[in-house]
Amino acid sequence: MPEPTLNDARSAALYAEALRVLPGGVNSPVRAMRSIGRDPIFVAGGEGPEIVDVDGNRYLDYVCSWGPLIHGHAHPVVLDAVREAAARGTSFGAPTAGEVELAEEVAARIPSVEMVRMTSSGTEASMSALRLARAATGRETILKFSGAYHGHVDGLLAEAGSGLATQGIPASPGVPAAATAATVIVGWNDAEALRAATERHELAAIVAEPYPANMGLVPPAPGFLELLRERADANGALLIFDEVISGFRVARGGAQQLSGVTPDLTVLGKVIGGGLPAAAYAGPRALMERVAPAGDVYQAGTLSGNPLAVAAGLATLRLLDDDAYARLAATTERLASGLRAAAADAGRAVHVTAATGLLTVFFGAGPVRDYADAAACDRDAHAAWCRELLARGVYPPPSQFEAWFPSLVHDDDAIDRTIEAAAAAFAAIA
Ligand SMILES: *Cc1c(COP(=O)(O)O)cnc(C)c1O
Repeated sequence: MPEPTLNDARSAALYAEALRVLPGGVNSPVRAMRSIGRDPIFVAGGEGPEIVDVDGNRYLDYVCSWGPLIHGHAHPVVLDAVREAAARGTSFGAPTAGEVELAEEVAARIPSVEMVRMTSSGTEASMSALRLARAATGRETILKFSGAYHGHVDGLLAEAGSGLATQGIPASPGVPAAATAATVIVGWNDAEALRAATERHELAAIVAEPYPANMGLVPPAPGFLELLRERADANGALLIFDEVISGFRVARGGAQQLSGVTPDLTVLGKVIGGGLPAAAYAGPRALMERVAPAGDVYQAGTLSGNPLAVAAGLATLRLLDDDAYARLAATTERLASGLRAAAADAGRAVHVTAATGLLTVFFGAGPVRDYADAAACDRDAHAAWCRELLARGVYPPPSQFEAWFPSLVHDDDAIDRTIEAAAAAFAAIA
């Protein structure tokens, strides 16, 4: 049988055009597929678990817009909700009933949440949660974990300094050194470094993805989330869980429900907007009432709580009952164990991490406990495997440092076809 190849003539032509008017041809870097050594694929549409590109190729999609589409593409209930909302007008800059309903829905699902402030992006929400934490504690320094992503907030676009210098250094030109000087960076799952940093610095907040999924999925070691809570309390810092990915995904009430560890503030995004731009920060009344106009911490947004996004988010959340999470867990487990078996059959050493609705295939024997472990993986082999998957009709996240997002409409047949393609892709790169 000839090796499958991808006809991507139209994508290539669009990319050439795009390069003239969009930096790198895209509006967000990972879409360019540079880290798997190919050019981007332009999408024409999506339906259920599949996307179709502009050349007519179909793929089982495991990006699902990087998390929002937990019900897959163009779900009829979500589309109807958006259509109905759009027919009434797209934005008012005045409060609407849907915003109250969505906040109530979020509070009902996440026990630590009494009040919600909506924003348009996860970046804005985490930036605003930090502002609130700094106001509430009267402190400035923030602790974050190496390899965690909280949006492109200046102070959080920080890399670990070398040696004993735990003070952050800018991870991008254009980020002022002053913005990252108040950021302390610790390795994920590194209990000793966390202890040392929390003894040395007076912190406004410890901010963590409780199930970090932006260095690939690297779950917390047993007891590590509990340690975050304990160290935050001992320090007088707030604990902020960035649940932009894990919220409404790993469990109904997110990672905090799964782990039983309660943060002070929660950052939400992705699923909460059901594929439209929406995010939020949320927490107990006593903290959230510091936010203007109830309190003195300023934060605002022209399109915050946008009626279309709220409608999509509400429809998305209301479809997420206990049965949905049981199905998503089973789907993820079927995929994870199938991928492990396919790799083993091909003699390829991989380490597959998984949580409900999330999975990463690390190209290394594992374990992967932190960013350094993830970065030590064989990224060239991973890239080659991803290109082979694309040629076989499976669209994986095109980076070793991202998670797969299986959805509720990836049925057993879709998963089995994915595992078959993965086995062939492992054989092709052997
Ligand atoms: C995607 C993401 C963000 C940023 O959200 P945007 O809507 O892209 O600004 C923040 N935190 C985490 C954990 C994310 O995965």
